[in-house]
Amino acid sequence: MTIAAELLGFIDSAPSPYHAVDVVASRLRGAGFADVSRTDGPSTAIGAPGGGYWRRGGAIIAWFVPDVGPDAAVRIIGAHTDSPNLRIKPRPDLAGYGMRRLAAEPYGGVLLNSWLDRDLGLSGRVAVRGTDGVVSEHLFRDDRPLVRVPQLAIHLDREINDKGLLLNRQQHLNPVWGIGTTYDGEFLDWITEAAAVGDADVLAWDAMCHDTLPSGFLGPDEDLISAARIDNLCSCFGALHALLAAAEDEAAGHISLIALFDHEEIGSETATGAAAPLLTNVLERLSAARGATAEERARALVGSRILSADMAHGTHPNYPERHEPNHPIALGGGPVIKVNVNGRYATEALTSGEFQAACRVAAVPVQVYSHRADLACGSTIGPISAARTAIPTVDVGMAQLSMHSIRELMAASDVAHMVDSFGAWLSAAR
Ligand code: ZN
Repeated sequence: MTIAAELLGFIDSAPSPYHAVDVVASRLRGAGFADVSRTDGPSTAIGAPGGGYWRRGGAIIAWFVPDVGPDAAVRIIGAHTDSPNLRIKPRPDLAGYGMRRLAAEPYGGVLLNSWLDRDLGLSGRVAVRGTDGVVSEHLFRDDRPLVRVPQLAIHLDREINDKGLLLNRQQHLNPVWGIGTTYDGEFLDWITEAAAVGDADVLAWDAMCHDTLPSGFLGPDEDLISAARIDNLCSCFGALHALLAAAEDEAAGHISLIALFDHEEIGSETATGAAAPLLTNVLERLSAARGATAEERARALVGSRILSADMAHGTHPNYPERHEPNHPIALGGGPVIKVNVNGRYATEALTSGEFQAACRVAAVPVQVYSHRADLACGSTIGPISAARTAIPTVDVGMAQLSMHSIRELMAASDVAHMVDSFGAWLSAAR
């Protein structure tokens, strides 16, 4: 299987951030990484040579510690597991006009039009109370076409193609899932069965819609990838690959770590987002476990680096005027270093130069992105992680089109470019 085909399987296995964490954790366990999130033993368990990971909800932090001293630097690849989508409200049962619907609302910066007239499955997690009274969490997913947001016919919206599509987030995004009338608790009954929790009571859920169409290659040459959640499962996949490769190198002079956060699309200010002290907690535990003094911790910080991995905007051939004319970005042109003088990206000259040097080692082309000065620029977890840790950071991502659409587009060749360049950067000796 090619590395691009492997990415498609990874994306399809992760319809929600919780599933993304689950699939990453199982790949790590398969490679011998120890799960320290449940046992939460003494810090010595976390810092022992070898691989480990800590997970909660949609976030996972994983590391490989070779045989290094207490002042060893840490090289970190950060990314996010969440993508914009439609999520189900706590009391979702709606009826009227002969149809059953679910109350839903957008999560993050959804390109709303792309969710219309798609056959959608449902996935996420439920909180269940077992017969022993203990509340626990279970993942669920159902890939059958279950719900759909039907678009209004053009005959009832005559100006749509000239004046644009206007969607009210409260009124127009509730998907239908059947005909007839509903009852209070219909969705609860459905999700209880979908979660297969037996006699346990489902008390709450974090449920979301996903495209039922599997990811695939596109074009006569199959040189494009058409898939959901490329932003940012593609970068999670690249980070995971780089860490697994780093774990083969017992003689490395630094610790390798990946931090995959939830909630980037809604601002990161949550218990599993990049603004939470998850990364700093793990870094502290890693150095405490190896008996590092304050002086050794400060020395470790100097040599440490973060690569904030998130997708980048390729130049759209139908809208070239929306892009900075002197910074064209090609799909298939290799990783994109993102620069923003106002700190929306964390890249600085030194970290950009170091990443470019890693690309040379990997024989991968590299591009540089700058947003138009007259358009508001997006951001990533890069500036947040940099500010929380004081670790020099570079913002990098692969080029794509249709960012935040239900179906995104990137070059198949960029998957290998990403894996090779992230791998070279993570293993780079200072
Ligand atoms: Zn993103």
